[in-house]
Amino acid sequence: MRTILVTGGAGFIGSAVCRHIIDQTKDRVINLDKLTYAGNLTSLAQISGSDRYIFEQADICDKEALDRIFAQYQPDAVMHLAAESHVDRSIDGPGDFIQTNLVGTYTLLEATRAYWKQLPAAAASSFRFHHISTDEVFGDLHGTDDLFTETTPYAPSSPYSASKAGSDHLVRAWQRTYGLPTLVTNCSNNYGPFHFPEKLIPVMILNALAGRPLPVYGKGNQIRDWLYVEDHARALYQVVTAGLVGETYNIGGHNERQNIEVVQLICQLLEELAPQRKVAGLKQYKDLITYVSDRPGHDLRYAIDAGKIERELGWRPAETFETGLRKTVQWYLNNESWWTAVLNGSYRLERLGNTN
Ligand code: NAD
Repeated sequence: MRTILVTGGAGFIGSAVCRHIIDQTKDRVINLDKLTYAGNLTSLAQISGSDRYIFEQADICDKEALDRIFAQYQPDAVMHLAAESHVDRSIDGPGDFIQTNLVGTYTLLEATRAYWKQLPAAAASSFRFHHISTDEVFGDLHGTDDLFTETTPYAPSSPYSASKAGSDHLVRAWQRTYGLPTLVTNCSNNYGPFHFPEKLIPVMILNALAGRPLPVYGKGNQIRDWLYVEDHARALYQVVTAGLVGETYNIGGHNERQNIEVVQLICQLLEELAPQRKVAGLKQYKDLITYVSDRPGHDLRYAIDAGKIERELGWRPAETFETGLRKTVQWYLNNESWWTAVLNGSYRLERLGNTN
């Protein structure tokens, strides 16, 4: 049984990683999360009773807390997902992004290095530090066929992607300079259950159900490559357990869609799955689509070449965009209590009773 320290395990992707490890493997998870607005312990309700799951409320910028957690749990691997992750928030206030994504990653690397250095030789050589990053570090693509590969030069556009790019460089430097056994993954846009309703897909589903406008940036022609979050969690576990030290793996779903197509598909699925949930007077969900002024510096197209992880680690996404989006819309229809608690803020009270 491995012990895996997951940072940011109460977030959207981190909670999928924790659920995957507890449900699909015999490993133990230490979930280290500060519980910012994006951290939600109710996303972990299905595994919180497992004796292989432990939650620690801590900030990755707090070196003392990190040292204590490493000493107490003796992890075999770190999967680092804790981050500020919302591009619009990074434009409104970049400070938290610099603090958590850069200073936090640096602090975590130093705590990891101090712990790793004193491990016996065999444990030190099998130890892994896996940094989870985004395809946004590459900037955007303007051609229709080109793809981001593991060697695409970095050209981040937003404070979010610049802070993630900086954190990727720190991780690679800690491998090159100190020999820390690190791996990096860069993934495309995720979607699926437990997604915080500030990101495109959950915003559109919940606004449509509430009869509120569906705000589409610019002309809605931005292209994203969508990956179902459970496919991402499976890929991450594959990388941390079987990936080669020092390597980078791109992860993507081969699902390029314009934002406007995504919104139209959500409207179609809601027509099919919840025709009776429309607010009074609304004829079709798609009548709610409205165009709003574009985000500054908005990247046009992201698309991932995931050939390396497919060839070398045998990973492939199980969901197409159509099957994954259908599951996602159905999940939001079936899990109103989860998103109602997020929308009214009561999910934040969960932390009071649930931390140790
Ligand atoms: P999220 O915003 O849903 O969750 C982030 C989690 O990190 C939250 O639980 C939050 O409480 C925690 N956190 C924030 N600051 C912290 C700190 N200082 N110390 C400890 N915990 C802290 O993010 P997500 O969408 O799950 O993304 C997870 C990771 O994956 C991020 O590093 C992100 O850059 C990367 N990523 C996300 C996507 C995507 O589409 N969402 C795609 C590719 C990569």
